[in-house]
Amino acid sequence: MIGVLGLQGDFLEHIQLLKEIDNVKPVIIKRSEDMSNVDALIIPGGESTTIGDLIFAKNLDKKIIEFAREGRPVLGTCAGAILLAKKVSDKIVGETGQKTLALMNITVVRNIFGRQRESFVTDVDTKIGRLKVAFIRAPGIIDAQPPAEIIGYIDHPATGRIGVLAVENNLVAATFHPEITGDKTLYQYIISLIKK
Ligand code: GLN
Repeated sequence: MIGVLGLQGDFLEHIQLLKEIDNVKPVIIKRSEDMSNVDALIIPGGESTTIGDLIFAKNLDKKIIEFAREGRPVLGTCAGAILLAKKVSDKIVGETGQKTLALMNITVVRNIFGRQRESFVTDVDTKIGRLKVAFIRAPGIIDAQPPAEIIGYIDHPATGRIGVLAVENNLVAATFHPEITGDKTLYQYIISLIKK
């Protein structure tokens, strides 16, 4: 069973896409109790400060951290990637002291491509294949320290070459939205990380 954190953001789009994949049962996670039978977790895009506040208010942080440390796959997309990162800043306002789950050894910069109107759809070349995905007020990954590794980059006029996909063992941070374009590559990858 694959859980999608359903506190805020586009969790329903992920659920919809997961339903199209054979042998996958998606479930919306709203409380710690919902995670009991989950093999992999997706933290969706949305507003990272709001999703983060709700995670901590509902004590879901401890549950997600324990889940990740047990080696089960966690995929964070866009706001979800921000919440997985140990270090976060904002291109526009600088350091914000934003609290995250701090599970991955990556540094993420919010709003790195500019404001909402700078959103775009593009192809991304990654170690797991070529993906067609949407960047919506997206962050970029500017650094990864082992065991984390950046495995996907794009070239953008605002940033030059910039990291957009990183992995650290069972954890995956994608600064884009695969659920908008319906590209299933990342879902297949996260499913392949589930220990049989
Ligand atoms: N910029 C948003 C944030 O910081 C993320 C946007 C998104 O998830 N599409 O939360």
